[in-house]
Amino acid sequence: MIATQDPKIHKRVEALGERLRERGCRLTPQRLALLRLLVSSNTHPTAEQLYQQLHEDFPTTSLATVYKTLAVLKETGDVLEVGFGNHPSRFDGNNLSPHAHLICRDCGEIIDIMENRNLSEFSRQVTSRSGYRLISQRIDIFGICPHCKNGDKKPSNTIINQGE
Ligand code: ZN
Ligand code: MN
Repeated sequence: MIATQDPKIHKRVEALGERLRERGCRLTPQRLALLRLLVSSNTHPTAEQLYQQLHEDFPTTSLATVYKTLAVLKETGDVLEVGFGNHPSRFDGNNLSPHAHLICRDCGEIIDIMENRNLSEFSRQVTSRSGYRLISQRIDIFGICPHCKNGDKKPSNTIINQGE
């Protein structure tokens, strides 16, 4: 189970719950558990992974509920979807400040980088110099993590470039 003691997490879960209620979603125990999971995981899980974890405690949860909830929270800007073409999207409900991602091509680990003001400033500079109006920003840096580089396989997350 997920630790619910952290007051910051607790507060965000309540805020997200309120948002869902406003959008007509029922706040079932499994939905609340999903919110806790989303807010407290920093691994950028896929919808499928969230579903699998949820399923351990709530066997009646459906994948559709997970997708629906994610879709609503994406719309309200409370969850960031990080898509990779044909590969399953990863979701960040943990870190909402603008940031970039460092991604392991082999095991799919995703680490938040360039947090706080740097990324926004960079995007603002680049766009204004080019006469663009800034809409959104996304920076992904791909590499091979130390574990994969050394060949010591850790339990893999989601493979991003399976075909290679
Ligand atoms: Zn790796
Ligand atoms: Mn992130």
